[in-house]
Amino acid sequence: MDKVIVIGGGPAGMMAAATAGNRGHQVILLEKNEKLGKKLFLTGKGRCNLTNNAPIEDFFGNITRNCKFLYSALYSFSNTQLINLIERLGVKTKVERGGRVFPLSNKSSDVIRALEKYLEQNSVKVIRGQAVKLLTSCNSICGVKLNNNQEITADRVIIATGGLSYPATGSTGDGYKMAQKLGHNITELRPSLVPLIVEEEWVNELRGLTLKNIEIKIYRYKNVIYEDFGELEFIENGISGPVVLSASTNLHDITTDKYRISIDLKPALTEEKLDQRLQRDFKTYSRKIFANSLSDLLPVKIIPVIIDKSIIPFDKQVNQITREERLNLVKLLKGLTLHIKNYRPVKEAIITSGGIDVEEINPGTMESRLVQGLFFAGEVIDVDAYTGGYNLQIAFSTGYLAGVSC
Ligand SMILES: Cc1cc2nc3c(=O)[nH]c(=O)nc-3n(C[C@H](O)[C@H](O)[C@H](O)COP(=O)(O)OP(=O)(O)OC[C@H]3O[C@@H](n4cnc5c(N)ncnc54)[C@H](O)[C@@H]3O)c2cc1C
Repeated sequence: MDKVIVIGGGPAGMMAAATAGNRGHQVILLEKNEKLGKKLFLTGKGRCNLTNNAPIEDFFGNITRNCKFLYSALYSFSNTQLINLIERLGVKTKVERGGRVFPLSNKSSDVIRALEKYLEQNSVKVIRGQAVKLLTSCNSICGVKLNNNQEITADRVIIATGGLSYPATGSTGDGYKMAQKLGHNITELRPSLVPLIVEEEWVNELRGLTLKNIEIKIYRYKNVIYEDFGELEFIENGISGPVVLSASTNLHDITTDKYRISIDLKPALTEEKLDQRLQRDFKTYSRKIFANSLSDLLPVKIIPVIIDKSIIPFDKQVNQITREERLNLVKLLKGLTLHIKNYRPVKEAIITSGGIDVEEINPGTMESRLVQGLFFAGEVIDVDAYTGGYNLQIAFSTGYLAGVSC
């Protein structure tokens, strides 16, 4: 029976520890918080979108960094295996829009309790409230030093300390430093699935407004690099919402003027059809001023911004609006433009992009190629994906593979 230390009690660490225990190893799971899975508790707005029920081949199109590296992990422990395990541990699941899988109870705490039960079933010793401050060595015999200066040795160590986002949950990047000290390269760390800061100050007038069924295009200089359809929300100095979070994953090295976002407020209508619609509305409101003619077409909050950006004076009588002015308005509604200034900070990101260089990890085992006996699992590795349950599946699959291989 070998001794295994797992650092970090998030989804990756819990899965790794329980799996290693199931293989007959003597396992210690070290978590710096008093509770396991503090970030897991927040996932899916407290409902935990634990995976996606798409065929596993479809996962790779939703993984935005190093998807090939994850082949073995995802096929070793697939979404179906995860759902079966969670159900076996007493948590019924359901599938929602876009294949997103949630616990039937809508409670992430049920998933955490199931994983705790799994740890117990596999005799994992859990030490809570103790951070590992140092990974003293690895190769043949590994050692860790805790905050209380206690030293523990083991045959193998799995680092599952997560990324840098939402640091209050315990994910403060400790694993990067531990791995770096042992010679590993850490690729550039940046926020991903994160709201964006824009240059235009008028977004502040729209704070709290959510636009549904809009289409966005992200331009890098003149080229479209990303397109999406869905929901966008205006926040202080910027934008958020599902389409923006996904778009953020595709931006690299943001500098002024490099990226802009074009919002189509009426994607269901071609320019021609939108013009016809405007003509009908203008007929209805022909005796009103322009400022009072758009309420059938747009959310009330955005009307002053559109009026301000159009070439039509706000108090012009609608029946005086020219064809040229109307066509200019069509273009504006089909392409409201914002210039992206930066990401919101990494602490506000859903995930951290970058991490332990995958070139230095064996994809078939999750073991370091540089340090024998050292394994990695979860977000600490340089892999990430879109929303939809893919990131948690990555954590569980890499955790399983590390646990079964160590
Ligand atoms: C608000 C929010 C919502 C999200 N919703 C979803 C969702 O619905 N679906 C989805 O797929 N993904 C979601 N994610 C992403 C998902 O939560 C992460 O991908 C996942 O938690 C990564 O798991 P992990 O185990 O690698 O790391 P973490 O969950 O970050 O766990 C790492 C653990 O290691 C511990 N630790 C760190 N350093 C030390 C140390 N030195 N000593 C001891 N312990 C240490 C930490 O305290 C922490 O408990 C969401 C993320 C956020 C922030």
